[in-house]
Amino acid sequence: MPTILIIEPDPLLAESVTEHLQAHLNVLSETADSLEAARQLIEAFPGNYLTIILNLCLSPDNYAPFPNIPTIVVTGKIPTSAKKIAFASNVLDYILDYNGYNLEYITQLVKRVLFADESKILIVDAEPVNLKLMRKLLGNKGYAVIEADNAPETLALIQSHQDISMLLIDGDICEPKDFDLVRSIRQDFKKNQLSIIALCERSKEFQRTMLLRSGVNDCIEKPFRIEDFQVRVMNNLQLVEVLKELTEHSNRDFLTQLYNRRYFFEIGSTLYENYKRGALHLTLAMLDIDHLKTINDTHGHLFGDKAIKTVAEVLTKNLRATDVIARLGGEEFCVLSTDVKPNEAQNLFERIREEVHRQTLSTPSGTIHCSVSIGVTTGIAPSFEDMIHAGDMLLYQAKEQGRNRVVHN
Ligand code: GH3
Ligand code: MG
Ligand code: MG
Repeated sequence: MPTILIIEPDPLLAESVTEHLQAHLNVLSETADSLEAARQLIEAFPGNYLTIILNLCLSPDNYAPFPNIPTIVVTGKIPTSAKKIAFASNVLDYILDYNGYNLEYITQLVKRVLFADESKILIVDAEPVNLKLMRKLLGNKGYAVIEADNAPETLALIQSHQDISMLLIDGDICEPKDFDLVRSIRQDFKKNQLSIIALCERSKEFQRTMLLRSGVNDCIEKPFRIEDFQVRVMNNLQLVEVLKELTEHSNRDFLTQLYNRRYFFEIGSTLYENYKRGALHLTLAMLDIDHLKTINDTHGHLFGDKAIKTVAEVLTKNLRATDVIARLGGEEFCVLSTDVKPNEAQNLFERIREEVHRQTLSTPSGTIHCSVSIGVTTGIAPSFEDMIHAGDMLLYQAKEQGRNRVVHN
């Protein structure tokens, strides 16, 4: 597991950082109370430390005494040469102390190192010198940076690197054709996927307003203060992450973590449109747990919940990441699969049915098995709603025929 090395002489402070990190990140941490102790640990376990948190009182003249490990420095006061820190390679940033928000800030910095690829930034400017400056300011702070110097290339990179979290772009490149560039990017990438920051000269007030109206998140005035630049990048990235998380939560069912009904209908309609155009196969399976009411009544609601979770786990394990698995409500699930051939669908869901029945649920009155009835449709239907209706009818037949079975059309 990734380990953080805290170089801090005060054991109480070291402990509070450790507690905070462990509560918010899946990392280990170790403490050294002097530079020498830290050196010994690093030599004894080379490659073990992901990040260092260094109290600068132990190393006043050197911000990064271990230059191969990204370092967060705790300065005690605003450093006289903050600019030097901004440019220093391997110094992620400085914080004043371990209080309140600064601990959260440390978490964000460590997260950035942990998930460097998820903090991908596209920088765009026609001037090589500006690109060089941004590359220098971001590249050694744990971000993955890619660059472009014109609008078409920007569009192409955004489309081909769907994991870009931030676009930092010069306002002049956005201005032609009525700021069409930003608008067209925003059509495909909402604010919960991509943060756009425009860099505009102070005098270009119209440009700034138009950019904000076209969908950029924030504008930074040129020339910028180095520190402002870095903190704004960090704040805006944090915002996209929070929005991403919220969107993900709002699409998921709380009990099973499968997709919920709302998201299912949203994504289902899109997949159905592609299917109708002949772009992909579409298999829809409706599943319903058999006699869940009896499980609830006999063993209690908690075991009913367990049965629901068990079915969710079997579905997740046996289907692909590209399949949409949703809990539509209660004890009813629906699967939309795009890469199962129609003649394989029956077998796939037959396997899933068997696997559910094989699972054992331990209850105080002994182990029980639950089962599901499944309706599978691969036939063309005039609409997505009709396809769901067809799945429902087949499921109904499976129930009628005795449950714990798959009926396919
Ligand atoms: P069938 O084989 O016909 O599907 O029988 P069934 O008992 O599963 O179906 P019925 O529609 O009669 O009842 C559904 C039951 O599912 C009743 C309801 O309390 C239970 N249920 C729905 N949602 C949940 C849940 O989130 N947790 C638990 N434990 N039970 C739930
Ligand atoms: Mg039901
Ligand atoms: Mg049921």
